[in-house]
Amino acid sequence: MTIEEKLRKEIVKYGRLLYERGLNTGIAGNISARVDDDRILITPSGRCKGFLKENEILIVTIKDGKVSGKGKPSIETPMHIAIYEKRKDVGAVIHTHPVYSTVLAVAGITLKAALTPEGSLILGKVPLVPYRTPGTRDLGECVAAMIGNNNACLLEKHGALSVGSNLEEAFLRLETLEFLATIQVHLSHFGEVEELPEEALKAINTKK
Ligand SMILES: [Zn+2]
Repeated sequence: MTIEEKLRKEIVKYGRLLYERGLNTGIAGNISARVDDDRILITPSGRCKGFLKENEILIVTIKDGKVSGKGKPSIETPMHIAIYEKRKDVGAVIHTHPVYSTVLAVAGITLKAALTPEGSLILGKVPLVPYRTPGTRDLGECVAAMIGNNNACLLEKHGALSVGSNLEEAFLRLETLEFLATIQVHLSHFGEVEELPEEALKAINTKK
């Protein structure tokens, strides 16, 4: 099996998992994976990511956005490309609208990843990227600049995004992001809740 064939299967698998785990709904969201230095695979526009077929996933060249395959690639292809251009370590990008992450994003509230040791370890800092029109290069450049070397971000008034060296890593980060967002929203019933103190975070990070 070629790398491309393997990645097509994985995109179908994680598309289904995201849908079944309630991390994505309807036709929303998009998933991509780097095939090599020049090309990515990306999900098609207008399809539910829970029911994708391997041959529906399109190839897009990073340099000039040239598309191979039937149908239209995701409207958010420029955002994925902007990240792959900037981050050579990134092998996969997942963007969806999970409920609690989107609640924070719509309210313009920054996610507190360090509410738990796991959140701090897996996510580090999670920037809140200011609102930009979906599907534009402007959004892509803003996300690529603001995510920096972090593993995930929230998109204001829009949703969530995670990156990883591979699809599994990006998926697990997105799932952790939504878990942290969920507890943050529930904790808001108790008033202001603090993240772990600096000292505790230092102790966790020395265990890495
Ligand atoms: Zn979106």
